[in-house]
Amino acid sequence: MTTIKLHNTRTRQKEDFAPLDPDNVRMYVCGPTVYDRAHLGNARPVVVFDVLYRLLRHVYGTEHVTYVRNFTDVDDKINARAAESGRSIGQITAETTQWFLDDMAALGALEPDHMPRATQYIPQMVAMIEGLIAKGHAYEAEGHVLFAVDSWREHYGKLSGRSVDDMIAGARVEVAPYKRNPMDFVLWKPSSDDLPGWDSPWGRGRPGWHIECSAMAHELLGDSFDIHGGGNDLMFPHHENEIAQSCCAHPEGQFARYWLHNEMLQVEGKKMSKSLGNFFTVHDLLEQDIVGEVIRFVFLSTHYRKPMDWTDKKRADAVRTITQWRKLKEAGLKTDLKDDEVVNLVDSEVVAALSDDLNTSLAMTKLNDLFTKAKMSEIDSQQVRAFFATIKFLGFENLDTERSKRRKAVQSAFDSSGLLDDVCRRIEDARLKKDFETSDRLRDGLVAAGVLVNITKDGVTRELGPDFDPAKLEALK
Ligand code: AMP
Ligand code: ZN
Repeated sequence: MTTIKLHNTRTRQKEDFAPLDPDNVRMYVCGPTVYDRAHLGNARPVVVFDVLYRLLRHVYGTEHVTYVRNFTDVDDKINARAAESGRSIGQITAETTQWFLDDMAALGALEPDHMPRATQYIPQMVAMIEGLIAKGHAYEAEGHVLFAVDSWREHYGKLSGRSVDDMIAGARVEVAPYKRNPMDFVLWKPSSDDLPGWDSPWGRGRPGWHIECSAMAHELLGDSFDIHGGGNDLMFPHHENEIAQSCCAHPEGQFARYWLHNEMLQVEGKKMSKSLGNFFTVHDLLEQDIVGEVIRFVFLSTHYRKPMDWTDKKRADAVRTITQWRKLKEAGLKTDLKDDEVVNLVDSEVVAALSDDLNTSLAMTKLNDLFTKAKMSEIDSQQVRAFFATIKFLGFENLDTERSKRRKAVQSAFDSSGLLDDVCRRIEDARLKKDFETSDRLRDGLVAAGVLVNITKDGVTRELGPDFDPAKLEALK
């Protein structure tokens, strides 16, 4: 069996990866807070850990890997967005979650096995907090529950390599007077009536951010699991706090054994930020006819532990290469490889490169060699099949550089038909007459046709989704 080596942030070394149970290799990755479109940086961990997921499935078998990535759907940023937009929290989180899934699918990322939403795990969080209080690791103060860092002082900060004293000295945040130690962090906080809240032993409130990952990882992966991932901006305080909570609540387990962190994404050598005007979302790029495969290609050309610089030149190079791949595919080559054929045909040097701490840039160089060989070979030769098996393994499934252009053409054709507007008007009329059976039926029909519908008290808005199917819309005439 291939040995995978991974750089473990916890030990700061590249280590041989040995799962606790090769029949069930378990990985948890921190997912997005759902209040807005994913920016290009948010997509980096998704692609990095998708490559690792694919590699683990290749080595241990598709059925023997469990990948969990959460959605943070309770957060003060979401509350603020709801208040400023006049929309409900549920609408914002549902819409943003779907956007995220669509955008990440366009990048060729497989869906994780579990995508828990924080609001579905409140009882588990409450139980974990109760356990922490009972063990003397947390305390209640003024309606809040705080983790007592002093109860775990010698371990706190190990992942990010900081001591509690240094952290206190470096902290610039105003310290709440009820904290025993300035580094104590919130597990539970009170909610006023206008904010989302759940009943708890400490009154109506909502969880702090960190506890959700600890509770969901425990519920879905157990006391100890193999890999925990995320961007390196999450190492402190988020991951440090996850470790403290989980190890204190379940001292019999180890929590996560291998910690992987991706470096940040930059744009043309500069930090991506709204004030520099170089901030864009994945959706912005997809709308500019930059297809997901191009983004994926550019991402894979840089190792995950190096800063990734998104440049126009890299984008243009990726478009050129993927266009060549597509031409080879369109030349009539057999590419409809089944999953077991892919496993057998995938290039061993590419697998070896990925197995060396996800050396995707080397894998892409090897892929280029394979392409050169495939171009010079007979249609349907072993070389050609190996090339297509390998790009499929790496997540380049569609090779469709024209996809978004076609989608736009379809959209404009059907937008002008007026049918969509007509259906939306019929939904509004039915709702005015309180005929919810009709309005629900029409709404479900739109959703089945791939239309993203949003019904508020002010009316119905809609947008065509990537899977828009005009034929299904016709059925609503
Ligand atoms: P957030 O929704 O801000 O919690 O971020 C979701 C994920 O995106 C986390 O794993 C972050 O580490 C990651 N992330 C955020 N910004 C960037 C960036 N510029 N480059 C790479 N990863 C990022
Ligand atoms: Zn997390």
